[in-house]
Amino acid sequence: MRIDVLSIFPEYLEPLKLSLIGKAVTDGLLQLQVTDPRAFATDRHRTVDDTPYGGGAGMVMKPEPWAQALESVVRAAAQDAALAEPPAAPGAPPAGGSTALAAHEVAESAMSGLGSPQVPTDDAAARALPGQAAAPGRAASSRPVLVVPSPAGEVFTQDVAYELAAEEHLVFACGRYEGIDERFLDWARGEVRVRPLSLGDYVLNGGEVAVLAMVEAVTRLIPGVIGNPESLTEESHTGGLLEYPVYTKPAAWRDREVPETLLSGHHGRIARWRRDQQLVRTARRRPDMVLALDPAHLDRADLAL
Ligand code: SAM
Repeated sequence: MRIDVLSIFPEYLEPLKLSLIGKAVTDGLLQLQVTDPRAFATDRHRTVDDTPYGGGAGMVMKPEPWAQALESVVRAAAQDAALAEPPAAPGAPPAGGSTALAAHEVAESAMSGLGSPQVPTDDAAARALPGQAAAPGRAASSRPVLVVPSPAGEVFTQDVAYELAAEEHLVFACGRYEGIDERFLDWARGEVRVRPLSLGDYVLNGGEVAVLAMVEAVTRLIPGVIGNPESLTEESHTGGLLEYPVYTKPAAWRDREVPETLLSGHHGRIARWRRDQQLVRTARRRPDMVLALDPAHLDRADLAL
């Protein structure tokens, strides 16, 4: 997967070099770049914002530097992809039945939409099922997805993370101030698939913190990033419930004991205890999730609880 982040505060994204995401980059599972739209501002002060039409508080980000930054990363991705294509055997028909393009031609066509029809963001075929995401070659579409963090977007959930993890190229545009001029999004919809996403129902100062959270949630779903893939199937928000409580050694700590069942070594009893804990915890903390559960996913013992 390739991820590009557009931000006028590139230093904010430095933590992406750490821990599992940094290792995924080193291991070649992920290509990650940060681009500053300010580099595409043309005036002496490299201005990227201006006052809002219609008046009001704050500043609005100008569309042109963002459009050029997006064009540059889409072009770069297309060039990399073209260079990574194995050379065609002499006399062999071009891959996919289309005329082979030189890298620069691919890059130009990437932004003009040539040969790659627009796929709506909510295209069912573009969505991956939880647990099935991110296998190489399973990308939903060759068109990049532009994620626009915004408190006015669709809420980012684990299901959305799985959908994004199935993509080949994600671009995140970190707004600041009062946000980016709406015409940038209108224009971008003709070039890429645009997905405004909110981290939650509150307002941050900029998109960078949201992008750190979203990139972490997405990249840990790429096969190979997490050492033990089983940890992905047993966690909160996968299967509609929250995770059960967890314990480690020592068995007794400050007058508190580990639940006896977990020390029993009886796999069936442990599994049942954990499932019950999931149901009780979810009902207490997130009754909305219990109401949304598909009854087909409940077993007899669940219903007896
Ligand atoms: N005036 C905007 C509104 O009321 O919708 C809020 C702008 S906010 C101060 C600046 C930027 O922070 C936004 O453009 C967005 O990129 C980011 N942001 C703020 N809250 C966010 C949230 N809950 N989720 C994702 N991004 C957020």
